[in-house]
Amino acid sequence: MATINDFNFENKKALIRVDFNVPLDDAFKVTDTTRIEAAKPTIIKILEDGGSCVLMSHLGRPKGISPEFSLQHIVETVSEVIGVQVKFVNDCIGAKVEQAVAALEAGEILLLENLRFYEEEKKGDAAFAKKLSKLGDIYVNDAFGTAHRAHASTTVVAQFFNDNKCFGILLAKEIESINKVLNDNEKPVTAILGGAKVSSKIGVIENILDKVDHIIVGGGMTFTFIKALGGKIGSSLVEDDKMELALEILEKAKAKNTQIHLPIDAVIADAFSNDASIKTVDTTQIPDGWMGLDCGPKTSENFAHVIANSKTILWNGPLGVFELENFAKGTIELGIAIAEATKNGAFSLVGGGDSVAAVKQFGFANKVSYVSTGGGAMLEMLEGKTLPGIEAILK
Ligand code: AMP
Repeated sequence: MATINDFNFENKKALIRVDFNVPLDDAFKVTDTTRIEAAKPTIIKILEDGGSCVLMSHLGRPKGISPEFSLQHIVETVSEVIGVQVKFVNDCIGAKVEQAVAALEAGEILLLENLRFYEEEKKGDAAFAKKLSKLGDIYVNDAFGTAHRAHASTTVVAQFFNDNKCFGILLAKEIESINKVLNDNEKPVTAILGGAKVSSKIGVIENILDKVDHIIVGGGMTFTFIKALGGKIGSSLVEDDKMELALEILEKAKAKNTQIHLPIDAVIADAFSNDASIKTVDTTQIPDGWMGLDCGPKTSENFAHVIANSKTILWNGPLGVFELENFAKGTIELGIAIAEATKNGAFSLVGGGDSVAAVKQFGFANKVSYVSTGGGAMLEMLEGKTLPGIEAILK
């Protein structure tokens, strides 16, 4: 697996696909610099080698050229984070851009305009990718968040670089972390899958069933399993058409000797609101008109016990509606248990948009081994799929 450490960038121009799809406020100021910081080690290594960086990214979902999605808005923030004044060109292909690249000296950074101003980007258009390929000597992909998309800048462009292509530090670390959980792991391995629906996690569950020792199921998914097993779930979230599948998963797990742990108690509410009346009951005994919005204390204790005995931990999806304070406890208790296990030597990987938001919100981000930067990309890797952006570098 070629990474930037296999290259010396002296007097070379690196064309780097980064994920600078950052949130902006109404005044177009960057409100979260995590994705920019994540790309920093790659950029610094190239500059320190004596090379220069041409950065390309998308921002938002523009329809054609739309000034509110211009990457010009982030130039100053990128400059501050990297510690080098970044140059900007208001296009991403063509003569003007090629001139700006030609004028770039060692130690300099050029940021290109939003790739998605061209519909060819998302279409994976080869002619557009070829134009992009003129903008660097070595292609570096460091955008895990878009590695599951076969877009021009994430995948198609790689074919124009022969062997002069590699993974950036961030993307290499993402691949290594997932590999450490699924293949190169220390046992026992525990996967915690929460979030809203079984349907969005089913591919992951099926792929990891024979790779892990324990699967902890939580969040809204719980109730499809509980109902399928004959429990009373009131008006909790349920996918009736997935009940049969839930039973199949439990059967398969038994055959493979993988233990599935379901919540035994739930915090229930009479409305989806922080002001609703709440009580804690057995997960199989939820009265009509009430819904389960978090796991209860007995469940947290059970889950903490499984986690304390794990050497490798994967967490994807919250255990309750953590956005509402009254239903955040199960997710917080889980975070505490994972942080404790990590302190005691376990490897822990957290990924998926909402669990990342939860670990940041509750202050666990520095207490786990690795926080993934890709939601959809991580799910697809956990489903066992080969991501086009990764494959394009390996080819
Ligand atoms: P996902 O994107 O599938 O990981 O789902 C994350 C969402 O699941 C979060 O916004 C949570 O609020 C939601 N969630 C977690 N537990 C429940 C539950 N018991 N009922 C409804 N939604 C839930």
